[in-house]
Amino acid sequence: MVMKVSVILTSYNKPDFIERVLKSVVEQTYQHWELLIMDDGSEQETIQKMQPYLVDKRIQLYSHQIHPANRLKTVRYATLINEALTRITGELVCYVTDDTVYRKDRLEKMVEVFQSKPHIDIVYSSQRVVHVNQHLVETASFVREADQVLEHASFQVDHCSVMHRSRLLSLIHEKYGQYWADEPKHWHHADSVFWMRLNHFAAFFPLQEVLDTTYKTPQSFHHMFASMPYDLIDGAVIEREGAYYQIAHGYLHRIDRRWVNEKNRRAIRVPSLCAMKYEMNEPLTVPNYTVVTADNGRTFYYIEHQTKRRFASKRDVQYFQFHQKEIYTVTKEQLETFEEGSIIQVSPIFSPPNRRLFKWKQDVYLFVHDTFCRIVPEVVKIFAFYHQPIKLQPSQFAFFQEGKPIVPLYMESLQEFDLSLYQMSGRKHSS
Ligand code: UDP
Ligand code: MG
Repeated sequence: MVMKVSVILTSYNKPDFIERVLKSVVEQTYQHWELLIMDDGSEQETIQKMQPYLVDKRIQLYSHQIHPANRLKTVRYATLINEALTRITGELVCYVTDDTVYRKDRLEKMVEVFQSKPHIDIVYSSQRVVHVNQHLVETASFVREADQVLEHASFQVDHCSVMHRSRLLSLIHEKYGQYWADEPKHWHHADSVFWMRLNHFAAFFPLQEVLDTTYKTPQSFHHMFASMPYDLIDGAVIEREGAYYQIAHGYLHRIDRRWVNEKNRRAIRVPSLCAMKYEMNEPLTVPNYTVVTADNGRTFYYIEHQTKRRFASKRDVQYFQFHQKEIYTVTKEQLETFEEGSIIQVSPIFSPPNRRLFKWKQDVYLFVHDTFCRIVPEVVKIFAFYHQPIKLQPSQFAFFQEGKPIVPLYMESLQEFDLSLYQMSGRKHSS
């Protein structure tokens, strides 16, 4: 029997690479395949490079238009793969990203295994990983070896190095209600989650040869998001086209440039997509989490959730690590527009300002929405907190509840795996 292979290619704006991958599929020595190009709304430059290949009857292009605000709502390649899996007609399935190339005998070598060994349902091969700089010049490379039968393939195998029988798909769908998990927390590991599902039914059989090469570019989508949590921290200020915006209660609010001057560098750099999921709301005259005075420093207020919280004394301003350069002068009329909130003080009742860093034992916590949320150093760095964490006394820490830790997306996803099952190979992401 000649087995048909369905190759699923996910594509999004890789004009420098897309031709290579298409060529590498078309030139396969094994010819009984179909290629589903799942394009995620690439610019014309990429689409045009696909055109010459579309005359091949085995190739189908599925174009998607996605609103920028929705691009981060699911793991896009997993969403596209799920759609493709409803359209495939082959007995075998494999996956490829637009920055990967197959060796020309890849399909042949893999199909051979399925044809000669009916008990094998999944194969994977060694992969060469090449890091390139912005000029596409190679800066480093290594080989991810395929040398054992894997009962736990998560974190060991990239999705461009696998082929499996299509019949596993209905089993997976029945058990898990979907094929690939595309929830955003799986951003870096959607393939690993799928491997876990595949492993429930079969092991991965190795082919030691390197049958694909994948390129890691500085613009690679996942690279840019490596340390981002899914949500921007309340109060974050971002710049877009020369204007500044603050996140408040899940909305973006324009703020005046004076609140982000060179004294107080509070705008953070995030991939513009991260901010696109937030809708625009009315401008703020004074941004949240700003210390203001209207009487030359006799009284200080902290603007929080658009109320004003008075500091009990100047010593409280200092205790919570606000520096002179973070204190703004406003007019009495401006201050009067804000309703009075609770007082800020260290004692007798510990009543701290939100959006300050605290230290408890070995960990750093952000006080946000009146809870202490553990926050990891790489996120602290992105969100540009400039003060030293304020040391907490046991009674102070106990006074408030602990909130959900603020960690990069990839860490959230990791919590779902029983990592003791895997020999971690030092890989951070696998797509
Ligand atoms: N991708 C997509 N839509 C997006 C971003 C990425 O379909 O909005 C696809 C992309 O075409 C690629 C895969 O997701 O096939 C992985 O993206 P990328 O190579 O940028 O990330 P990496 O995991 O290599 O860092
Ligand atoms: Mg990539």
